[in-house]
Amino acid sequence: MNSSFRLMQIRGIPVEIHISWLLIFFLFSLSLAQGYFPLVIEGLNNQVYWAAGIVTTLLIFVSVLTHEFGHSLVAIKEGIPIKKITLFIFGGVAQMEAEPGSPKSEFKITAAGPLTSLLIALLTGALYYLALPPGEIISEAVFVVARVNLVMAIFNIIPAFPLDGGRLFRSTIWFFGRNILRATRIAVTLGSILSFAAMAVGFIIIFIYGDLWGIWLIFIGWMIYQAGQSSYSQLVFKQTFSGMKVSEVMSTNLQTISPDATLEELADNFLHYKYGAFPVVYGSTTHGLVTLQNMKEVPRDKWAHTTVAHILTPLKETMVIRPNSDAAEVMMKMATQNTGRALVMEENGELVGLLSRTDMMRFIQMHMVLGEE
Ligand SMILES: [Zn+2]
Repeated sequence: MNSSFRLMQIRGIPVEIHISWLLIFFLFSLSLAQGYFPLVIEGLNNQVYWAAGIVTTLLIFVSVLTHEFGHSLVAIKEGIPIKKITLFIFGGVAQMEAEPGSPKSEFKITAAGPLTSLLIALLTGALYYLALPPGEIISEAVFVVARVNLVMAIFNIIPAFPLDGGRLFRSTIWFFGRNILRATRIAVTLGSILSFAAMAVGFIIIFIYGDLWGIWLIFIGWMIYQAGQSSYSQLVFKQTFSGMKVSEVMSTNLQTISPDATLEELADNFLHYKYGAFPVVYGSTTHGLVTLQNMKEVPRDKWAHTTVAHILTPLKETMVIRPNSDAAEVMMKMATQNTGRALVMEENGELVGLLSRTDMMRFIQMHMVLGEE
């Protein structure tokens, strides 16, 4: 993602910041400097309020980062390397190189995050109540950090997958039921219910109480719902195609068309074979792909005089995959990049197969019906 930039590297783990974090950073500093601090301690210089606002926000930033490091360090101990940590609008994500292999491992890695936040809340809370002078702005700043960490610990254990709480819930069902797919489905369903409940409350707040803050609930609910759905399909891909090569799932009964063919001939091909696309091949060279969509752009009266070469989608690197690539990885990429079809080609350019999203969905469906029990 290029909307993130790298900030630093800690213990070999790259830390990235998503640009949405800058907005949150500003809003948080602003509301502390101009709203909260002047309210709890009166009569200070405006610069002091700003300094306190920015420092407190930085400390919250460090808290979020520490939460993610909590997950990361336990993950590494469990043998799962961390690709990177990204901080974005509502917190952070520690991206693991692989999913935990056992429910116990997932439970430990997940629990480490909220426990870290709780620990910071307890330490800063103790500092505030036992050590710092009351009525000072430093004390109030520490108190804000304590409460934000407490909220972070509590918010994260809401059982809405893929929040930490949802993962704890999933790993528990996974542990007792021994089926990760079913456990995930249950956890995602609960997560969706909670997400829709949050959104409903958001709408009630807006339309009945006239308070625009309800938008946040709708937004958070929607984000969690989306994230839950996508991690479920990711898992389905991984489970269905684990260990398989592209060559095992591609379709090999290739029907190609020549670039010299007219669109009338192409139309006959579509009607006859009922495929959504044809690779355009001349001799041993593959020129690209022609789809029904390409064809629609040309008026019917020009079909007899227009050749396939004029309308084809030229061969691009993103359309080409290798037969020995990992099927799950390729499919995930196709799904996220919204690629409908890919051409399977050998290093030397020889076309050996075609992989379409429709094939892929059919395969998953078949696997789910036949494979789960
Ligand atoms: Zn977490």
